[in-house]
Amino acid sequence: MPASYPLHLDVRGRAVLVVGGGPVAARRAHGLADAGAAVRVVAPWACEEITDDPRLALLRRAWTEADLDDVWLVHTATGDPGTDAAVAAAAEARRLWCVRADAAEASAAWTPGVVRRGDVTVSVTAGGDPRRALRLRGALAAALDSGSLPLRRTRPGAGHVALVGGGPGDPGLITTRGRALLAQADVVVVDRLAPRALLAELDPDVEVVEAGKAPHAHTLSQADIDALLVERARAGLRVVRLKGGDPYVLGRGGEEALACVAAGVTVEVVPGVTSAVAVPAAAGIPITHRGIARAFTVVSLHDAEVDWTSLAALDATLVLLMGVGRLAEAATCLIRAGRRSSTPVAVVEEGTTARQRTTLATLADVAAVAAARGVRSPAVVVVGDVVPLAEALGPSAAATPIVLAAHGSPDPRHAAVVRALVEDLRADGHDASVGWLDHEQPALCLAVSAAGPRAVVVPLLLADGHHARVDVAGAAGTARVAEVLVPDPGTPDERVLRVLHDRLRESGADAARGVVLAAAGSRGVAHAATCDGVAAALAARLGVPVRTAYASVSPSVADAVHGLRAAGVVGPLALAPLILAPGRLSDQVRSQAEAAGVSFLAEPLGRHPALRDLLLARARAAR
Ligand code: SAH
Repeated sequence: MPASYPLHLDVRGRAVLVVGGGPVAARRAHGLADAGAAVRVVAPWACEEITDDPRLALLRRAWTEADLDDVWLVHTATGDPGTDAAVAAAAEARRLWCVRADAAEASAAWTPGVVRRGDVTVSVTAGGDPRRALRLRGALAAALDSGSLPLRRTRPGAGHVALVGGGPGDPGLITTRGRALLAQADVVVVDRLAPRALLAELDPDVEVVEAGKAPHAHTLSQADIDALLVERARAGLRVVRLKGGDPYVLGRGGEEALACVAAGVTVEVVPGVTSAVAVPAAAGIPITHRGIARAFTVVSLHDAEVDWTSLAALDATLVLLMGVGRLAEAATCLIRAGRRSSTPVAVVEEGTTARQRTTLATLADVAAVAAARGVRSPAVVVVGDVVPLAEALGPSAAATPIVLAAHGSPDPRHAAVVRALVEDLRADGHDASVGWLDHEQPALCLAVSAAGPRAVVVPLLLADGHHARVDVAGAAGTARVAEVLVPDPGTPDERVLRVLHDRLRESGADAARGVVLAAAGSRGVAHAATCDGVAAALAARLGVPVRTAYASVSPSVADAVHGLRAAGVVGPLALAPLILAPGRLSDQVRSQAEAAGVSFLAEPLGRHPALRDLLLARARAAR
């Protein structure tokens, strides 16, 4: 192909001649008419696409040179090379541009492949290879739709609001239109439940406004949000209101649209995949499975009186949104209103995200089971006989629930660390929960039964002993139990050492000449061997002597310090608690260490990625 000069033409109201009556001529004629040209088609015979389009002036005859007299542009697509060549030559003689459909290389002009998205137009030509141009055009269209191209306007224009349904949370479940609008936005006003991963793709200078953080803790009132949308659009900005699910399903999108309309601001609504349907699907629940249910009803339990009698009477799967806080009430009322107490119920938390978790129960026990599993909002509750299909179709069919068995302590700092570890596991997509031996709820036995028969119990205990062998094993029943974190005979895992090392470093202990490893302590010989094993491995890793000490039995921290000094250690010492979480025990060893003149006091193990990895390794090994 020769070098060419791309140009866009304003053909509105201008006469253009199309010679030919077949499908190719029809396509050209339609494109020209779409752009507003006054199209004259000359052909002895014309296909329906031409005869049926009232915008085209059709002359049913052979073309003549006079047809070129008053036109701006010529297209010839007769299917006959001789005719096309003659039309092109006549146009050439009059210095008119002519596009030849039959022979690109002999043509004076070409029509490109075109992609239009909003006010963006992309034209593609590809060396006279129409199929190649077509494929390129398709790829460009897909890229524009995916929002991956920088579509944002850099010159001011008319402001605009788009209420975009972002789907239930997975960034892949937004519509292509939603994505393209997001890529063009100057301002994004986002909900907590919207697909937040998409925010990472925005230009750094796009204004992101958080509209809601948590239930009952809105950062902006609805009136504030409405006012903000209107104000930004009036300032000439493109505003995307990114909402979870569908904007008009229990999402107050209607109010926002009305506020825009009332203010005379252009508003577009882009539907989304609602969590009411998508979250059950993600959990493997077809809400209308043939032969089981032919209807479903979506109800919000937020701040509203519910007519349980009518709801229970419906021959439909019930889908309850915003229902976690009223689960017990819902179950009791539905049973009282006539639903079987054995009706299956699923509670699906954070559907379609990496943290998705399904809890299966019945109306009779769902409140207790959900409490034992620590079920939290956002969740979709599904009530009906379609629920058990999740066993076969749900992703959790393959995953093993993990129940951490924690000691419990009257000190809230202890429970906070344990819950943080559970969160870490869940953030990695694991079905994790916690059961307690003491002080906290739910009791381990309850957590194990709530997690179901496939659960693995992982003791959050540093060493083997009475708790592990008697209490955990007893509460676990028939569930599998994993090894403790530092099993006998004291071959410590690399990950335990890494956590100890990090905690020492954080306390500034790099300069320490010796370390006291302080554990809770028990009278068991095995426990002492475990701790000594950790001390030896830590000494090898740090290159300084490490002595064990116990909070409640001897040797005490003071004994260990004395031992280090007696062995000739001079210079500052450090304390490394072999204790899971802050609490009475760690406070005790820290004050003992301070009294004994230890310079660096490391924190207990606490939340650490290596600890999470170790818990997972223990769970895997027990499967
Ligand atoms: N417009 C949204 C619903 C907003 S109401 C939609 O169409 O999906 C908020 C409720 O939706 C939450 O309380 C919860 O019940 C449900 N929800 C939204 N996203 C969810 C998710 N990813 N997992 C579970 N429930 C979700």
